[in-house]
Amino acid sequence: MEEIVSAVLDAVHKAGLVEVEVSARHVHLTQRDVETLFGPGAKLEPKRPLSQPGQFLSGQRVTLVGPKGRKERTAVLGPVRGAAQVELSKSDCVELGVKAPLRESGDVAGSGAVTIEGPCGSIHLEEGAIIARNHIHLTTADAELLNLHDKQRVSVAVMTERPVVFRDVVIRVSPNFNCRMHIDFDEANAALVSGFTLGKIIR
Ligand SMILES: [Zn+2]
Repeated sequence: MEEIVSAVLDAVHKAGLVEVEVSARHVHLTQRDVETLFGPGAKLEPKRPLSQPGQFLSGQRVTLVGPKGRKERTAVLGPVRGAAQVELSKSDCVELGVKAPLRESGDVAGSGAVTIEGPCGSIHLEEGAIIARNHIHLTTADAELLNLHDKQRVSVAVMTERPVVFRDVVIRVSPNFNCRMHIDFDEANAALVSGFTLGKIIR
Protein backbone atom coordinates (compact mmCIF):
# COMPACT_ATOMS: atom_id res chain seq x y z
CA MET A 1 0.00 0.00 0.00
CA GLU A 2 2.77 2.42 0.95
CA GLU A 3 4.48 1.69 -2.38
CA ILE A 4 1.29 2.54 -4.26
CA VAL A 5 0.85 5.80 -2.33
CA SER A 6 4.44 6.76 -3.00
CA ALA A 7 4.10 5.94 -6.72
CA VAL A 8 0.92 8.05 -6.94
CA LEU A 9 2.62 10.96 -5.14
CA ASP A 10 5.59 10.73 -7.52
CA ALA A 11 3.24 10.90 -10.50
CA VAL A 12 1.38 13.85 -8.93
CA HIS A 13 4.60 15.78 -8.30
CA LYS A 14 5.96 14.93 -11.75
CA ALA A 15 2.85 16.55 -13.24
CA GLY A 16 3.74 19.76 -11.35
CA LEU A 17 0.86 19.33 -8.93
CA VAL A 18 1.30 20.29 -5.31
CA GLU A 19 -1.03 20.10 -2.31
CA VAL A 20 -2.17 23.54 -1.15
CA GLU A 21 -2.18 24.23 2.60
CA VAL A 22 -3.70 27.33 4.17
CA SER A 23 -1.74 29.10 6.93
CA ALA A 24 -3.78 30.94 9.54
CA ARG A 25 -2.27 33.93 11.35
CA HIS A 26 0.48 32.80 13.70
CA VAL A 27 3.60 33.88 15.52
CA HIS A 28 7.14 32.55 15.81
CA LEU A 29 8.95 33.47 19.05
CA THR A 30 12.44 33.46 20.51
CA GLN A 31 13.02 31.48 23.73
CA ARG A 32 13.32 34.81 25.54
CA ASP A 33 9.91 35.90 24.19
CA VAL A 34 8.38 32.59 25.34
CA GLU A 35 9.61 33.25 28.89
CA THR A 36 8.40 36.87 28.84
CA LEU A 37 4.93 35.81 27.67
CA PHE A 38 4.49 32.53 29.55
CA GLY A 39 6.77 32.89 32.56
CA PRO A 40 10.38 32.12 33.55
CA GLY A 41 11.55 28.71 32.32
CA ALA A 42 8.52 28.28 30.03
CA LYS A 43 8.98 26.24 26.86
CA LEU A 44 6.78 25.81 23.80
CA GLU A 45 4.65 22.68 24.24
CA PRO A 46 4.17 20.75 20.98
CA LYS A 47 0.50 19.99 20.38
CA ARG A 48 0.42 18.85 16.75
CA PRO A 49 3.15 18.37 14.12
CA LEU A 50 2.91 20.51 10.97
CA SER A 51 3.56 19.26 7.43
CA GLN A 52 7.18 20.44 7.43
CA PRO A 53 9.38 18.08 9.48
CA GLY A 54 10.25 19.38 12.97
CA GLN A 55 7.70 22.23 12.87
CA PHE A 56 4.78 22.11 15.29
CA LEU A 57 1.70 23.92 16.52
CA SER A 58 2.17 24.67 20.20
CA GLY A 59 -0.55 24.42 22.83
CA GLN A 60 0.10 28.06 23.81
CA ARG A 61 -1.89 31.00 22.48
CA VAL A 62 -1.21 34.73 22.47
CA THR A 63 -3.18 37.90 21.77
CA LEU A 64 -2.01 40.27 19.03
CA VAL A 65 -2.65 43.94 19.68
CA GLY A 66 -2.53 46.70 17.07
CA PRO A 67 -3.70 50.33 17.03
CA LYS A 68 -7.18 49.33 15.79
CA GLY A 69 -7.89 45.90 17.24
CA ARG A 70 -6.94 42.65 18.91
CA LYS A 71 -6.68 39.05 17.76
CA GLU A 72 -7.19 36.68 20.68
CA ARG A 73 -6.03 33.05 20.70
CA THR A 74 -3.42 33.45 17.97
CA ALA A 75 -1.41 30.28 17.32
CA VAL A 76 2.24 30.01 18.31
CA LEU A 77 4.38 27.75 16.10
CA GLY A 78 7.55 26.03 17.17
CA PRO A 79 10.38 25.44 17.51
CA VAL A 80 11.63 28.82 18.79
CA ARG A 81 13.58 30.98 16.34
CA GLY A 82 16.34 33.56 16.48
CA ALA A 83 13.87 36.40 15.87
CA ALA A 84 10.15 36.85 16.49
CA GLN A 85 7.86 36.94 13.45
CA VAL A 86 4.11 37.55 13.20
CA GLU A 87 2.47 36.29 10.00
CA LEU A 88 -0.78 38.05 9.12
CA SER A 89 -3.19 38.19 6.20
CA LYS A 90 -4.05 41.58 4.72
CA SER A 91 -7.48 41.31 6.40
CA ASP A 92 -5.75 40.79 9.78
CA CYS A 93 -3.61 43.88 9.11
CA VAL A 94 -6.68 46.00 8.37
CA GLU A 95 -8.48 44.81 11.52
CA LEU A 96 -5.41 45.30 13.73
CA GLY A 97 -4.33 48.55 12.09
CA VAL A 98 -0.89 47.01 11.51
CA LYS A 99 1.19 47.95 8.47
CA ALA A 100 2.96 44.75 7.43
CA PRO A 101 4.88 44.35 4.16
CA LEU A 102 4.75 41.30 1.87
CA ARG A 103 7.87 39.34 2.76
CA GLU A 104 9.45 35.92 2.68
CA SER A 105 9.53 34.20 6.06
CA GLY A 106 12.61 35.26 8.05
CA ASP A 107 12.98 38.62 6.26
CA VAL A 108 11.70 40.88 9.04
CA ALA A 109 14.09 43.89 8.87
CA GLY A 110 11.98 47.05 8.72
CA SER A 111 8.69 45.11 8.79
CA GLY A 112 5.55 46.00 10.78
CA ALA A 113 5.17 46.81 14.47
CA VAL A 114 2.77 44.84 16.69
CA THR A 115 2.32 43.94 20.35
CA ILE A 116 2.04 40.35 21.59
CA GLU A 117 0.32 39.62 24.91
CA GLY A 118 0.65 36.38 26.87
CA PRO A 119 -0.67 35.30 30.26
CA CYS A 120 2.51 36.49 32.07
CA GLY A 121 3.66 39.49 30.09
CA SER A 122 3.73 41.28 26.77
CA ILE A 123 6.29 42.30 24.17
CA HIS A 124 6.20 45.11 21.67
CA LEU A 125 7.86 44.29 18.35
CA GLU A 126 9.11 47.34 16.47
CA GLU A 127 9.50 44.99 13.51
CA GLY A 128 8.40 41.41 12.85
CA ALA A 129 4.88 41.64 11.39
CA ILE A 130 4.74 40.45 7.77
CA ILE A 131 2.28 39.22 5.19
CA ALA A 132 4.03 36.01 4.16
CA ARG A 133 4.74 35.69 0.45
CA ASN A 134 3.10 32.53 -0.83
CA HIS A 135 5.61 29.77 -1.51
CA ILE A 136 6.13 26.12 -2.37
CA HIS A 137 8.27 23.76 -0.29
CA LEU A 138 9.95 21.17 -2.51
CA THR A 139 12.25 18.31 -1.68
CA THR A 140 15.55 18.33 -3.57
CA ALA A 141 14.33 15.27 -5.50
CA ASP A 142 11.04 16.94 -6.54
CA ALA A 143 12.89 20.13 -7.52
CA GLU A 144 15.17 18.10 -9.79
CA LEU A 145 12.20 16.22 -11.23
CA LEU A 146 10.49 19.53 -12.08
CA ASN A 147 13.69 21.32 -13.09
CA LEU A 148 13.13 24.07 -10.50
CA HIS A 149 15.62 25.70 -8.15
CA ASP A 150 15.57 27.43 -4.77
CA LYS A 151 14.34 31.08 -4.86
CA GLN A 152 12.88 30.65 -8.36
CA ARG A 153 9.50 32.34 -8.94
CA VAL A 154 6.69 30.48 -10.67
CA SER A 155 2.98 30.87 -11.30
CA VAL A 156 0.55 28.45 -9.72
CA ALA A 157 -3.03 27.77 -10.75
CA VAL A 158 -5.03 26.79 -7.68
CA MET A 159 -7.56 24.24 -8.90
CA THR A 160 -10.92 25.04 -7.34
CA GLU A 161 -14.44 26.02 -8.37
CA ARG A 162 -13.15 29.61 -8.56
CA PRO A 163 -9.59 29.05 -9.80
CA VAL A 164 -6.98 31.71 -9.10
CA VAL A 165 -3.51 31.92 -10.65
CA PHE A 166 -0.91 33.26 -8.26
CA ARG A 167 2.22 34.79 -9.81
CA ASP A 168 5.64 35.30 -8.21
CA VAL A 169 5.26 32.23 -5.99
CA VAL A 170 8.64 31.47 -4.38
CA ILE A 171 10.15 28.01 -4.73
CA ARG A 172 12.00 26.84 -1.62
CA VAL A 173 14.09 23.67 -1.81
CA SER A 174 15.41 21.53 1.01
CA PRO A 175 15.99 17.78 1.41
CA ASN A 176 14.02 18.09 4.68
CA PHE A 177 10.86 19.61 3.21
CA ASN A 178 7.60 17.94 2.37
CA CYS A 179 6.11 19.06 -0.93
CA ARG A 180 3.43 21.71 -0.15
CA MET A 181 2.22 25.14 -1.29
CA HIS A 182 1.44 27.61 1.50
CA ILE A 183 -1.06 30.43 1.07
CA ASP A 184 -2.85 32.60 3.64
CA PHE A 185 -6.57 32.81 4.41
CA ASP A 186 -7.21 35.81 2.16
CA GLU A 187 -5.67 33.97 -0.77
CA ALA A 188 -7.56 30.77 0.08
CA ASN A 189 -10.85 32.64 0.36
CA ALA A 190 -10.26 34.41 -2.96
CA ALA A 191 -9.95 30.98 -4.61
CA LEU A 192 -12.74 29.35 -2.55
CA VAL A 193 -10.27 26.77 -1.24
CA SER A 194 -11.91 24.19 0.97
CA GLY A 195 -10.64 20.75 1.86
CA PHE A 196 -7.96 18.95 -0.14
CA THR A 197 -6.79 21.25 -2.93
CA LEU A 198 -4.09 20.98 -5.58
CA GLY A 199 -2.15 23.72 -7.29
CA LYS A 200 -0.55 23.32 -10.72
CA ILE A 201 2.85 24.88 -11.27
CA ILE A 202 2.88 26.76 -14.57
CA ARG A 203 5.76 28.73 -16.09
ZN1 LIG B 1 5.63 27.23 4.27
